[in-house]
Amino acid sequence: MITDSFGRVHDYLRISLTDNCNLRCFYCMPEEDYEFTASSKLMRVEEIEAIAKIFVQQGVNKIRLTGGEPLVRKDAGEIILRLSKLPVNLTLTTNATRLHQFVDVLERANVRSLNISLDTLQQEKFQIITRRDLFGRIVETINLLISRNFNVKVNMVVMKGLNDNEIIDFVEWTKETNVHVRFIEFMPFDANRWTSNKVFTLKEIIAVIENKYLIERLKDDLHDTAKKFKVTGHKGTFAIISTMSAPFCSGCNRMRLTADGKIKNCLFSKKETDLLTAFRKGEDILPLIYQNIQSKEKELGGQFTKDFEKIHAENIHNRSMISIGG
Ligand code: SAM
Ligand code: SF4
Repeated sequence: MITDSFGRVHDYLRISLTDNCNLRCFYCMPEEDYEFTASSKLMRVEEIEAIAKIFVQQGVNKIRLTGGEPLVRKDAGEIILRLSKLPVNLTLTTNATRLHQFVDVLERANVRSLNISLDTLQQEKFQIITRRDLFGRIVETINLLISRNFNVKVNMVVMKGLNDNEIIDFVEWTKETNVHVRFIEFMPFDANRWTSNKVFTLKEIIAVIENKYLIERLKDDLHDTAKKFKVTGHKGTFAIISTMSAPFCSGCNRMRLTADGKIKNCLFSKKETDLLTAFRKGEDILPLIYQNIQSKEKELGGQFTKDFEKIHAENIHNRSMISIGG
């Protein structure tokens, strides 16, 4: 078991397959001319499989593939199929622009639950946020997956003044559709135009929804980062990920592996440990994994507190979200 100095067992690994992406969400990828990591520096299929096995031998039972956009990698299908042989719950976070090409692979790999990002239900706003015109395809793919009985969670980053006026539209979507919307508080990363007054908090989200609907609190799973709810009578559910206003660090069981093979023990950690270089030299990476997790801070990477209004984004040392792997 990989345990940190606060006794938290780490059994969930998020692997970034690439920092490349075919969208340009401004809150995630700082600039249009962001330089993607060269493919020679990315973990290769066999390396991902071998490193994942080392984590699984230490008790990891859940793996999420993410990025960048994991499905822009040509060998994404092979990676999914190889990892599906491990005794883990395998899942994926994707922007769904290429997901329609992977439905059969996901079914073969027994991946039944997916997180799909969609921050707006308005085509024009989608273009403003992502700087690309792929809204229609994403919505079609979400509908396709729901019709094929996948458990679809839709991630919506709520940004005050940009899409907070769509919260009700997203909740309305859960009325007749078995979709699970997750409202995510806007988080600060390198150069992502974050300011505290753009955070739309858990309390604010609840207030908007309660103003219109009767809602029920649902039971959260162990280690859940999302607080789950449903509108009475609706088929789908909604949840809120309140990293900024009500963090959930005490139950954290997550480790992250960047696409260039560095382990990060927290989304906001300043430090990272290079596993890939050691692995390529034939060294034992287990001590590196344990040292990294032992050095995990109690909360929020030790960089700020839930008093998020005092945060100045320029004082936070981190990669951009796209190069961490969300
Ligand atoms: N490309 C995939 C996608 O968009 O789902 C996977 C990677 S993306 C970095 C993972 C998740 O992080 C997405 O749901 C995205 O909306 C979220 N994310 C990125 N930047 C964020 C930020 N600044 N605050 C909150 N969530 C963010
Ligand atoms: Fe790409 Fe996902 Fe980041 Fe948007 S949120 S730029 S889709 S990695």
